[in-house]
Amino acid sequence: MTPRFAPSLIDRARDVLATVAMPDGGDLAGSGRIEGLSATNGKISLAIRIRPDEAAAFAPVRAAAEVTLRELAGVTQAMVVLTAESAAPPPPKTPPTLDAPSPAPRPLADVRHVIAVASGKGGVGKSTTAVNLALAVRALGYTVGVLDADIYGPSLPTLLGLTGKPQTTQGRKLRPMDAYGLKAMSIGLLVDPETAMIWRGPMVMSAITQMIADVDWGALDMLIVDMPPGTGDAQLALAQGTQLAGAVIVSTPQDLSLIDARRGIAMFRKVDVPILGLVENMAHFVCPDCGGEHAIFGQGGARDEAARLGVPFLGAVPLTMELREASDRGRPVVASQPDGPIGGAFGAIARGMIDSLNDQKR
Ligand code: ADP
Repeated sequence: MTPRFAPSLIDRARDVLATVAMPDGGDLAGSGRIEGLSATNGKISLAIRIRPDEAAAFAPVRAAAEVTLRELAGVTQAMVVLTAESAAPPPPKTPPTLDAPSPAPRPLADVRHVIAVASGKGGVGKSTTAVNLALAVRALGYTVGVLDADIYGPSLPTLLGLTGKPQTTQGRKLRPMDAYGLKAMSIGLLVDPETAMIWRGPMVMSAITQMIADVDWGALDMLIVDMPPGTGDAQLALAQGTQLAGAVIVSTPQDLSLIDARRGIAMFRKVDVPILGLVENMAHFVCPDCGGEHAIFGQGGARDEAARLGVPFLGAVPLTMELREASDRGRPVVASQPDGPIGGAFGAIARGMIDSLNDQKR
């Protein structure tokens, strides 16, 4: 007798995707539009290939696919994105018969300010700054959320010590996690990091916009978005698609990264997003033994550069063992030692950023 095996999660996913209707009347599994279907540790993800003009018609298909997959036994997370990158998909067999979808409600309607924290390249401390800045703004009495949109290297779960999976609300949105009084969400909580790494530009973009629209952020004074590093299409699209109130650029003092920072500033200016200021991270080294301050990369470079570029200089954060260790332990310094020197530095940066934001409105 031939042994019978239980169908794999991928097979079961294909079966249920056959129950998801396409705008043209066919079903999603048979449409030939599914790309990158993968399942790791109960996290399932796939992309639906579309033409750019089909985005609105396919929004309900995407949502239905996600809901259906989430209901499968053994699935803890399901992420379905639309991608318009590849060659055009086959034309629909019959003309679409659905009514035009009603316009989607504006995402983040109850969020007063969306602020991007960006850098020209990775490794400059953008995520560390985003988290500590969010905590410093919260300490000023505001309600704050932080979204880790750095799909290539999501670090928010580590920085905030987040574990477990986000819950889903009644309305099937994702509930942000609570960390040190912040509402927090990271792509690292939703998909396997290895899956995230292989995603290409448009898929990344789609995943980011969905994290904004599919998360129940509720009412917030400020949502701080830890952007992917660089100045590519994904950053540009996020800047244009989320009604950004402004951007904070993080740079180290080395000239090279200042050049990168300059590119970041130019990109935001191109899409009319105000630059709220420049943060200089790892400005000088504080020796843990002698307490002495060493300006390894020289002094004043970022402040001068900010003046040259006509953007506010928000402040400098030193390179310290304490900050690195606290970040790795998931206990951000601004939460654990708000009155210490680094807590003070981020407090000043937060106040400077809010001043800049208010200046934009005058
Ligand atoms: P990015 O988001 O730009 O890639 P991260 O915030 O993830 O950078 O920081 C990269 C590494 O540098 C992390 O290990 C972080 O703990 C460390 N780091 C960032 N800023 C500082 C600082 N001011 N002092 C010490 N370590 C820092």
